[in-house]
Amino acid sequence: MALIVQKFGGTSVGSPERIASVAKKAATFREKGHSLVIVVSAMSGETNRLLALAHEINPNPEPRELDVLLATGEQVTIALLSIAIAKYHLPVRSYTGAQARIRTDSAYSKARIQNIDTKQIFHDLNLGRIVVVAGFQGIDDKGDITTLGRGGSDTTAVALAAALKADECQIYTDVDGVYTTDPRVVPEARRLNSLAYEEMLELASLGAKVLQIRSVEFASKYNVPLRVLSSFEENGEGTIITAETERMEEPLISGIAFNRDEAKLTILGVPNEPGVAYRILEPIAGANIEVDVIIQNVGQDGTTDFTFTVHRNDYQRALRILKDTSVQLKAREVIGDDNIAKVSLVGVGMRSHAGIASTMFRILAEEKVNIQMISTSEIKISVVIDEKYLEASIQALHTAFNLAKPTG
Ligand code: ADP
Ligand code: ASP
Ligand code: MG
Repeated sequence: MALIVQKFGGTSVGSPERIASVAKKAATFREKGHSLVIVVSAMSGETNRLLALAHEINPNPEPRELDVLLATGEQVTIALLSIAIAKYHLPVRSYTGAQARIRTDSAYSKARIQNIDTKQIFHDLNLGRIVVVAGFQGIDDKGDITTLGRGGSDTTAVALAAALKADECQIYTDVDGVYTTDPRVVPEARRLNSLAYEEMLELASLGAKVLQIRSVEFASKYNVPLRVLSSFEENGEGTIITAETERMEEPLISGIAFNRDEAKLTILGVPNEPGVAYRILEPIAGANIEVDVIIQNVGQDGTTDFTFTVHRNDYQRALRILKDTSVQLKAREVIGDDNIAKVSLVGVGMRSHAGIASTMFRILAEEKVNIQMISTSEIKISVVIDEKYLEASIQALHTAFNLAKPTG
């Protein structure tokens, strides 16, 4: 018999009916003799509601208190699900992150799991209990409640699966697997049967919000087989994410990810001399602002232009810092744009094939989309474009790379 960790996202526990249906699923798994740990998110919309409430009261809520507040969303769901499971006369225990001894660092709103003491959970499982754990939260060494960042229940589930050495971690959501791109944007998108950790890692880090990136990092590090499935369907294999995939032939492109969360900043006419990139980016890094894509143009008159992207939430702050830097460097001008989007092609097959980038650029040219920035790695190509062309670009690339057609 297997030990399975299952995670149900917000929509999957979004109403009493949905919670009842999760309880029924749990009862079916228990009947088959499996041991079950269930991780749940807050009911859909709840985390946003709590966030809005806090900001209504104070636009700058204290991070420690915000985590205390946000963690309540998941606490409601563990109790409701346990109450629903008990109707099947099955023994069940619910735990908050702290009660489940999920120890994190103290970085409120983006805490990292450091370790999990599994004694109590194993004790419960040995007694035949179903264990229900609140996702998205933990406790630091001062005893303070922390949260793991948006989408963090995925990471709770995978970290628990790793700590418990579970046979599989199943992520139940509102789509029946990982698709070639977000099926809400491209209806012809196709479900992938399998994916390698490194591809899922790229897709998640480039914007595919179906799994939180840290959950994929955990799965890869501890070799946890991860399966994404629909909570709305009885059957279905979903998408299995493992170190090795069983594909007959590596497709060139596995998927297209996109991200509207970035903004672009340019400093024009800076002296083209050693140390300039450092002097521009050092104060940005010093303000704890992460930089993503960077380009520097070749200058002609002894000056150069330097462009980089940051998270949209950090845009105004980065702009202010860059304007200060521009005075110090006697730059000509600082300009910015927060209506950009990043589109990325991802696939391990890219490693051994030239010409993917040129095909991508041709397709975008045919769509009359101007490429503002380009960044590549072994298994991905990303371009930054005007946000208004995002949907059309994804659609055109999806068709051009034949992603709707099944591969081996
Ligand atoms: P949950 O609340 O269950 O955690 P999320 O909203 O976080 O669910 O993630 C599921 C959503 O991810 C889907 O509804 C889908 O719109 C989106 N998504 C983005 N990219 C992909 C992709 N490549 N494959 C599947 N879903 C994707
Ligand atoms: N409830 C949290 C969120 O909305 C965590 C999660 O759903 O995974 O981000
Ligand atoms: Mg999610």
